[in-house]
Amino acid sequence: MTDTEHAYYLQEVAPILPATVLDFHTHTWSSDTWKERPWETDREGAKYMVTDERYSAEQLLADGRACFPDRDYQAVCFGYPSPAVDWAEDTKYVAEEAKRNRGLWPLVLAGPSLGVSREGYEEALDAGGFHGFKVFMNWYGDDYGDMRVEDMVGPTERALANERGLVMLLHVPRRGRLADPVVQAGVRWLSAECPRAKIVLAHCGRCYLPGEMKAAIACLRGLDNVRMDTAMVMDPVVLQIALNEIGPGRLVFGTDFPIAAMRGRRVQVWDHWVDVVLPGYPPSAFRVEGDNYHAGYMAREIVLAIRWAADMVGISDAERDGIFHDNGMALLKKE
Ligand SMILES: [Zn+2]
Repeated sequence: MTDTEHAYYLQEVAPILPATVLDFHTHTWSSDTWKERPWETDREGAKYMVTDERYSAEQLLADGRACFPDRDYQAVCFGYPSPAVDWAEDTKYVAEEAKRNRGLWPLVLAGPSLGVSREGYEEALDAGGFHGFKVFMNWYGDDYGDMRVEDMVGPTERALANERGLVMLLHVPRRGRLADPVVQAGVRWLSAECPRAKIVLAHCGRCYLPGEMKAAIACLRGLDNVRMDTAMVMDPVVLQIALNEIGPGRLVFGTDFPIAAMRGRRVQVWDHWVDVVLPGYPPSAFRVEGDNYHAGYMAREIVLAIRWAADMVGISDAERDGIFHDNGMALLKKE
């Protein structure tokens, strides 16, 4: 890291971080647990996200410490939510990585299409030390088609999440994101079906742009068991809209490492987000590289977006600390 980048961190980012930063959305994987390499197949969408074959927990924690060098970095982590993955192998891998490393809070992949029995989940939850479910995405790419929330969480997953008060991290489907009425009906249904589960919508319900959040946020009114994580959300206005509607208590900081370990920023261009990054990353959809500007870790850009949103809405320092740590820790507490 350059001195300039570190100085920028100390001046702009560090002052609003609490002593411990809890990152509620990260991944760890090894291709040893995969059935195939997605981008080597001809399936539609399989080349959407090209990744390294391995992202160990050590690397995840190293990235967290590099981004937030003077803070205690902890992370909720889960495997590779893709059809490429072998559930049993991925579950074993994530459990072992979390046990070997301090400060990790693992979630197990879950969904009816995985065909896991109740006993299978119970064993993972009890012996593997998992704190809840990362709902499995049984698709490649960003074509989330006509999938419904109701198809993504089965009766076994719902029953267990409700009985045990588990975290249930959900990446909402469909082109319309959380603004889609079918998705909203699904989230309402899940919230009512699992009142004791701690439902977290990944990437703020995939609303990266102000217009998307504005169209979506009202559906969370009154759904107190539904929260949102900030993974890859770098637009302050998106978070301002969210804070105004649901308040700081239902927002948790998340990065989406390893993606947010890239240097660059997610910006709006026309009607979609685009990741503007420094050179050296593999080509990917909606990713543009350049070398004639400064850029730092995307994870820090997420912090800055929270900083500006918090400032505009006028939440207290304690409420802001809640977003970076306390809110998430409360969800992880076993009942
Ligand atoms: Zn993710």
